[in-house]
Formats: sequence, C-alpha cells, structure tokens
Amino acid sequence: MKIHEYQAKQLMADRGIAVPLGRVATTVDAAVAAVRPLVEESGNPVVVVKSQIHAGGRGKGRFKEHPDVGGVNIVTAGIDGGIEATEAAVRELASQMLGSTLVTIQTGPDGKQVNRLYIEQGIDIATELYLSVLLDRATSRNIVMASTEGGTEIEVVAAETPEKILKEEIDPAFGLLPFQARRIAYELGLEGDTVKSGAVFLDALTNAAVELDTDLVEINPLVVTTDGDVMALDGKMAFDANALFRHPDVVALRDASEEDAAELEAKEYGLSFIKLYGDIGCMVNGAGLAMATMDIINTVGGEPANFLDVGGGAEKDQIVAAFKIITKDPNVKGIFVNIFGGIMRCDVIAEGIIAAVEEVGLAVPLVVRLEGTNVELGKRLLDESELDLVSATDMKDGAQKILELTR
Ligand code: ADP
Ligand code: MG
Repeated sequence: MKIHEYQAKQLMADRGIAVPLGRVATTVDAAVAAVRPLVEESGNPVVVVKSQIHAGGRGKGRFKEHPDVGGVNIVTAGIDGGIEATEAAVRELASQMLGSTLVTIQTGPDGKQVNRLYIEQGIDIATELYLSVLLDRATSRNIVMASTEGGTEIEVVAAETPEKILKEEIDPAFGLLPFQARRIAYELGLEGDTVKSGAVFLDALTNAAVELDTDLVEINPLVVTTDGDVMALDGKMAFDANALFRHPDVVALRDASEEDAAELEAKEYGLSFIKLYGDIGCMVNGAGLAMATMDIINTVGGEPANFLDVGGGAEKDQIVAAFKIITKDPNVKGIFVNIFGGIMRCDVIAEGIIAAVEEVGLAVPLVVRLEGTNVELGKRLLDESELDLVSATDMKDGAQKILELTR
C-alpha cells in the first residue's frame, strides 16, 4: 500500500526525521490560506506547491490542461512582493493544478488527476542526495541504498552508473550499526557537523522502516541545506500489505481514489488481481499457475492483460466477479481461463463462467482449459450451455488458441 508524500512526511516527522514545514490543501482557498502561517513560521518567503499523487517524477511532469505548469512549483514571488504576492501566485497555481491531470514518467500517458496539494516551506538546497530503505526479498533484510545522485531516478543511476550506489545490509538483530551509518555519511560526501546529523537521520529512518513494516522508504532527494542541515525533501513510502493489520493508523491514510478501481473491486471479492498492459485476459486459480499462465502466453507471443488468481476455493460469485472485472478492461481482446481443479471443482468454475456470460455477455473469444476434480462434469456443463467457447487440451494449447483468436 502506498501513501502520499505529505502523509509520509508526517509519519517521518513524528519519528524525529527532519522534513520541511508544510500544509495539505484540497481547495484553492485552503492552498492560499496555508501561505501566511507557513511563511511566518519558516521565515522564508519562498514556498513550494506540490501535487500529491501516488507517482513520482512530478517535478518534470506537466499538466495536460496546462502544459507550462509542472507538478512541483517553486514560488519566489514573495521575495520582492511579500506575502500578498505569494498568495496571488499560489492562487493561480492551485486553480490550474487542482482537478487537472498530471502526466509524469511514472503515471503513464493517461496521467493522474491531482486532488490534493502540499504547500511547503522553500528549502535552500546545497546538495541533493538519494537515500532509501528497501526490503530486500533475496536476503529477507532491509538494505539502505545511498547515492550522491539525488533528484535523478535511481533506476537510471543503477543502469548507467551502478558504482554510485552504496548498499548497506541491516542485520535485524542489531539494526543499523554506527560504522555503517558513518560509511554511508562518508559515501554521501557529508562533512563536519552534517556527518552527525546525517547519522541521526539514518538511524531514525531505519528504525521507522522497521516500526512501520515498510517495503520501501525512499527519500529522493535527501538534501543538505545551505545551513548544513540534513532533511527529507521528498518522501515515498510503501507498506507490506501483510503487516497492515498491525498499523490501523497507516490503513487510515489509504486514498482509494489513487488505487486502480478494478484492483479495489477484486479485493472486495477476495481475488488477487493486478492489471497489466497486454490484451489477453487471464482467469486462473492459484498464484503459481497464474504466473505460469502469464509466462506461457508470453512464450507463444502474446501479452497478458492481467494477473488474476481466483484462489483455491472460489465460489460461483467470485468467478462471476472475476469475469466481469476482466471484461471491463477495454484492452482485452480475448480471455483465457486456465483452471486446475484441486480443492476447486471444475463444475463450479463452469457454472460461474456460464452465469457470468449470461449476465455480462461475451464480446471477445474465450478459451477454457479445465483439468482436475470433476473435469468431465465441468466440460459437459460448458458443452450443454452452448456457450461460444473453445476448449483447450493443455496450457500451451490454450495459450496458442487464444493468441490465434485475438490476432
Ligand atoms: P518528484 O520526485 O515527484 O519529482 P520531489 O518532491 O522530489 O518530486 O520534487 C522535485 C524537485 O523539486 C526536488 O528534486 C527539489 O529540487 C525541488 N523541491 C521539492 N520540494 C522542495 C522544497 N520544499 N524546497 C525547495 N525545492 C524543493
Ligand atoms: Mg523526488
């Protein structure tokens, strides 16, 4: 689960991690009203207006409706014009940004609608660095990644100059050790007093990652200010969904409007669904078989439109829901149902498919491969239903058939 930057910064501030002052706003008036207290408290006439969406790359992103407006805007009008000038500039920006669609490298071409802004204290930046705490699935440990290449996407740094990324693995029994913190601080080029504030920052950040059960905490950029302070200028947090039951305060930060509607609907029915970008819809039982199905679709030259695991003991309702979710995707040109009946019975699947098609119709080709418990009964039900579907003998046969039918 992801949260917004301003929420991540609040969680950080609560744990002693240095972040700029800021206020969230969902209306133009609220954005303007945030200016005065912020400028008075920070003593800096410069404020920054930041789009809050669950995607990065905002600084370089542009609004569809206002191609000259970026996702992150530094407002300097107050340096000469005072608070009134800042308020006027924020009013104009907020009215352009709120409700408009921001396209960044991470949102895809459709972009995301901006419904919240974060008005933040302007920070005088000396250097931009990169810091993250990432749960490494290979070692089952958190690792700290640090780089002097802040402000750039880490994927780019990893591809072009991997030697510029330092990784320190954290032993869960000891936490980040002082020598590791010093090594990271040194590698980041921190000097003098900033070494100490850097170490304090690192300590608080790694503790927060453990306490909050995060998959990822990414600070890009981590900055050293012209006063020599170390501060998180951006904050991205993603949480381990399996640990959310321990963090009701984190769950409360969920912004459903940022999540994929189909994925949310699937969750309601207990289905594991992830939208992908191909055109072959998949309905499978079991995560392993679902992965194998996606692989075999790729192998024969197709692209899956989704990952969908209906689970081991799906009922008819869930099958119907799954079918509806798949057919709602306008990219889907064909559906491949691949079921191995173990606990799940093939006749239940067949009934679910028939009920779903009766309800939502079938506008695209359908290939069904059934195997396992009650397979004969399942096939007979499908035959008798006179549904317009193609049977497959095995996985590869099914993948090839749906590919032929969709090409
Ligand atoms: P994104 O990663 O989505 O582009 P960031 O929060 O990293 O968004 O902001 C992009 C850039 O804007 C930063 O690298 C930094 O240079 C600048 N910036 C962001 N917040 C502030 C701030 N409070 N003060 C000064 N500059 C900022
Ligand atoms: Mg950033």
